[in-house]
Amino acid sequence: MINLDILIVGSGIAGASLGAEVAGKRRTLIVEAEDQCGYHSTGRSAAFFLESYGGPVVAQLSAASAGFLAHPPPEVAERGFLHRRGAIHLSQGQWPELPSSVTAYRIDRDELETFIPGLRPKWMKALVEPGCADIDVAALHAAYLRQFGKRGGVVRTRAALLKAQRREDRWLVSLADGTELSAATLVDAAGAWADVVAQACGVRPLGIAPKRRTMVQLRVGRTGLKDLPLVNDSDGRFYFKGEGNRSIWLSPHDEIETVPCDAAPEEIDIATAIDRFESVVDWPVEKIERSWAGLRSFAPDRVPVYGYDADVPGFFWCAGQGGFGIQTAPAAAKLAASLLLGEPPDESVAHIDPGPFSPLRLR
Ligand SMILES: Cc1cc2nc3c(=O)[nH]c(=O)nc-3n(C[C@H](O)[C@H](O)[C@H](O)COP(=O)(O)OP(=O)(O)OC[C@H]3O[C@@H](n4cnc5c(N)ncnc54)[C@H](O)[C@@H]3O)c2cc1C
Repeated sequence: MINLDILIVGSGIAGASLGAEVAGKRRTLIVEAEDQCGYHSTGRSAAFFLESYGGPVVAQLSAASAGFLAHPPPEVAERGFLHRRGAIHLSQGQWPELPSSVTAYRIDRDELETFIPGLRPKWMKALVEPGCADIDVAALHAAYLRQFGKRGGVVRTRAALLKAQRREDRWLVSLADGTELSAATLVDAAGAWADVVAQACGVRPLGIAPKRRTMVQLRVGRTGLKDLPLVNDSDGRFYFKGEGNRSIWLSPHDEIETVPCDAAPEEIDIATAIDRFESVVDWPVEKIERSWAGLRSFAPDRVPVYGYDADVPGFFWCAGQGGFGIQTAPAAAKLAASLLLGEPPDESVAHIDPGPFSPLRLR
């Protein structure tokens, strides 16, 4: 029987980043159901950092993550994970509103056209959020897994948690590969499966709901798009950003309720995305180069959950990262690690009240 201090279920950005924070201090194993880490949401994101995204509580985590993402410690990575792009929040009517902590400025129609040539006349106003950046998600995720390994952590793939029982202050865990192990603490970082894993451990679910989001890579009849800012509808009906010289990444900003699954795009959502895109600019759509979908999983109040379960000892929630799990990962992992280990928080997150993230709020 393998004896652990901490068993983390899920090897996406949530499990990997928290694992990297705690591995040097506790004997830690990450188990992953798939044969590849990051196969689900983490490998399917739109890969941007947008501080205004997710509301004021989430914005605190994003802001506290920016330093690490731009300038990670040398032992984590040789260079930063961000590439500055900027964002434009478009509106047809009122000026868009962002959390007051976010740096942004207003531009009108004339200036808008210099950012987005071919913009249709109905788009009159916009806010520019200069801090928006692309995140090199694969490099960030790999850096966390590397750091986890260097600090003594072990990852086991094709090893889904099937069942866990709490016996005499420890978890007795059965994995799909036939392994039985014991752990003092179990961390639920299973993304869309967070409630499923909780139930397999005899813990009441919190209502973490997976919602499908679609992404399309389009080739269009316009050049010079590689550094096009993220163009975000302030009414939440689309966003797109430059990908290559003649290609963009586009989403219809969909949130389709689903069960946890290997998400795939549906034709209707791709068509909706293109229809909305054509209402923004006059660029001819030439080809759908690729499309994909992933699950964004939310707690009922859309704030992520970091903390011990109210009823079952030794069960720690690290779930509900919604559409911001990559950009918040550095600060979220530090905050969650302090709660998990019962230690004072790292100074980069010491100003953040953990209360709004507690699972107790949902009971
Ligand atoms: C289309 C799209 C665009 C997005 N864009 C952005 C963006 O621009 N910026 C941003 O910050 N965020 C974005 N997100 C959100 C971000 O991708 C997620 O918040 C983040 O990846 C969640 O990470 P996770 O580790 O919680 O989940 P996941 O990456 O899904 O990891 C959970 C893992 O748990 C494993 N698992 C489940 N059950 C078990 C079990 N029983 N035993 C073992 N393992 C199990 C799964 O196989 C999975 O690998 C986007 C998401 C989508 C879908």
